[in-house]
Amino acid sequence: LIELRGVNKRYGELHVLRDIDLTVGQGEVVVVIGPSGSGKSTLCRTINRLETVESGTITLAGHPLPAEGKELARLRTEVGMVFQSFNLFAHKTVLANVMLAPVKVRGKKKNEAMTRARELLGRVGLAEHAAKYPAQLSGGQQQRVAIARALAMDPRALLFDEPTSALDPEMISEVLEVMQQLARDGMTMVVVTHEMGFARSAANRVVFMADGQIVEDRTPEGFFTAPESARAKDFLSKIL
Ligand code: ATP
Ligand code: MG
Repeated sequence: LIELRGVNKRYGELHVLRDIDLTVGQGEVVVVIGPSGSGKSTLCRTINRLETVESGTITLAGHPLPAEGKELARLRTEVGMVFQSFNLFAHKTVLANVMLAPVKVRGKKKNEAMTRARELLGRVGLAEHAAKYPAQLSGGQQQRVAIARALAMDPRALLFDEPTSALDPEMISEVLEVMQQLARDGMTMVVVTHEMGFARSAANRVVFMADGQIVEDRTPEGFFTAPESARAKDFLSKIL
């Protein structure tokens, strides 16, 4: 579904993505881990072409992503993103947050968008919070709204960049459970996370990055029980 071939990206002298080859199949869950600064967030943004690249190709469902223009804008809406900071609109209700993009970007009718938004809020366990404002919700609840909002665009795939890193420990599991359920429902997902429990239980593959390169791309079982590279061994010894 998502395919990166020979992708390179630099910020000035800094070579942040080096010859990245990555394929994410339909329904696959790929967890990306690696040390701070290894390029995980840049990789996520690159999949969506929120970052320009220097070389290489990115294809989504067989369509090469163009560098700019209307076609890029359309293809971009097919990949949803969920960030560490929830980025909800503070002055809009939960329901309005979830309805916004389908109405504004897709031109969906308001009542249709509302029905769908309520359904999605139910799916993330927030049906009774639809009329509240983001500030009235906990961090875990806000992040679940952000997930519902991403789902409202009926994306082909979802990218998560450290979705639980800003949350208090007791709220992490409620967000991971929603993500687990999405994975079970067959959503194609790329997830940057430090939650190794999630990686073990939900991922089809673990991609380990270091210094802008994909160092290992394996099954979770293989990666956690027998990491091959010195970098991965070192990383795992620090976090596990
Ligand atoms: P973390 O685990 O801390 O989130 P990361 O793996 O997501 O790290 P990136 O945010 O992708 O890492 O950053 C990769 C490298 O690129 C880092 O060295 C970072 O300082 C650098 N970088 C990221 N964004 C920019 C930018 N807009 N301009 C210049 N350098 C950048
Ligand atoms: Mg990051």
